[in-house]
Amino acid sequence: MAIRTKEQYLDSLRKQNPRVFIAGEQVTDVVNSSYFKSSLEENCKFYDWMHDPEKRDDFVCWSPLINEEVSFWTHIRQGKDEWRKMVEVMKKNNARNFCSFCMGVGPAAIWAVTYEIDKTKGTNYHERVKEFFKKMQKSDDRFCLGLMDPKGDRSLPPSRQADPDLFLHIVDRTPDGIIVNGAKMHTSSAPLTHYIFCAPCGRLGEEDRDYAVSFAIPIDTKGITFITRPSPCPLQPTEMTNPASIRHNMVECLTVFDNVFVPWENVFMAGEWEFTDRFIYLFSSYARIAKATCVSARTDMIAGAAALIADYNGVSKASHIRSKINDMAISSQIGWGCVLGAIANAVEHPSGFSIPDISIGNAGLYYTRLRFVEFLGMLMEIAGGAVTTMPLEADYVNPETRPLIEKYFKGKESVPTEDRLRLLYFIQELTASRFGGYFLSSAICAVGTPETNRLEVMRNYDLRTQIENVKDICGINSQV
Ligand SMILES: Cc1cc2nc3c(=O)[nH]c(=O)nc-3n(C[C@H](O)[C@H](O)[C@H](O)COP(=O)(O)OP(=O)(O)OC[C@H]3O[C@@H](n4cnc5c(N)ncnc54)[C@H](O)[C@@H]3O)c2cc1C
Repeated sequence: MAIRTKEQYLDSLRKQNPRVFIAGEQVTDVVNSSYFKSSLEENCKFYDWMHDPEKRDDFVCWSPLINEEVSFWTHIRQGKDEWRKMVEVMKKNNARNFCSFCMGVGPAAIWAVTYEIDKTKGTNYHERVKEFFKKMQKSDDRFCLGLMDPKGDRSLPPSRQADPDLFLHIVDRTPDGIIVNGAKMHTSSAPLTHYIFCAPCGRLGEEDRDYAVSFAIPIDTKGITFITRPSPCPLQPTEMTNPASIRHNMVECLTVFDNVFVPWENVFMAGEWEFTDRFIYLFSSYARIAKATCVSARTDMIAGAAALIADYNGVSKASHIRSKINDMAISSQIGWGCVLGAIANAVEHPSGFSIPDISIGNAGLYYTRLRFVEFLGMLMEIAGGAVTTMPLEADYVNPETRPLIEKYFKGKESVPTEDRLRLLYFIQELTASRFGGYFLSSAICAVGTPETNRLEVMRNYDLRTQIENVKDICGINSQV
């Protein structure tokens, strides 16, 4: 059965026994813990979508690997058309549902890298990756991404850190597998998945060969501890006050590996430091178009909220507001256009993986994510100060205060006050709440910071040709 139901997903979580801490407590049953409730509901929704006739076509794919239908999240995409279909689904879906759990398709980059390592070194990593994905597809399991190391002193490479565990690394090799120590940071959703997929977060030198390690293992493997941060959704959310955080919220983890054994069949890289450069390149090509699609879709959401509140407040014709919404539309289109351009320019890898144009994809993400930060402020401005000063829902439902709120929170005559309040709570969550901070950070830090986008653009930009063009225009022949 390659496509699970949400009940099967919940059952599978009950059978796992990961070591999980959250808010000062150890949790043995994530399915029944109030801290995981809302994030679990979000994950269940992803399973539901595959059985929803209206969404099925978007979230069910055909896998030539096992000749069966598989989920959006375990499918290895081959060729530009599949990338294009994936981003179109995300663009449409994220503008309404915030998230398509796109990082779940991140490990596809290891597909191509292991192919290259095997060709050069005669290893058999690629076959292991293939077998791993076949298994994942058949059981419709989910994985979390353990890429980002704690990194300690950012100016130093892993092997020169005061504490060698600040980057995940191999401490021993045995005939049966490897033993790893260290940690990964920000592992989104980890206790609610089945496997953790680990890979290096940066390019490594020869002296850091033990840090060049990639593998995927069950999250309840002995020696793994998740120190989990609750999601930004309150423990008792309401539909009215928390329309955003009810729909999208993830727990985040510090994931510690204490002498964890990884069998060879689950190891995809063990010391091949010279391929970390390639892995980062391929991961960045894919991950940045996924993120740019997401930020573009969330910009659409902000534009929608800005237009609606402007209408409810009777200012939809104000020229500065129209101009701000116009800028949102332009930024969304630039981000989206770059995603489509990066895919159109993709280069086919012999493993079947399509490599989107890294420079165009990163340029699009850089532009759209920086403007997104401005747009959150603009949305707050367009909605007005009530976003942060409005009474709580409890006062709206209190019969004594409700008539006063009804009267004084009225906007345009034709709009019911309750609709305006609902929209203001939504904008409050997006811009002035714990969720808002998470929303912002997810646009700015997740999948690498804007600085990494600048680096990838510059690294792959043909500046030399531009200099030669200018020399030609000016009649300069010297080669200095
Ligand atoms: C909501 C969210 C979800 C995430 N989910 C995941 C996940 O599921 N899995 C995962 O692996 N990661 C995840 N991440 C991690 C994300 O990829 C990192 O936060 C991001 O890459 C930045 O790394 P950092 O947080 O260590 O910041 P840093 O790398 O410390 O960056 C902070 C600042 O320092 C600068 N800087 C850092 N190093 C240098 C240097 N050597 N020279 C000059 N400047 C430097 C950066 O450019 C930046 O301006 C998530 C992050 C967020 C916010």
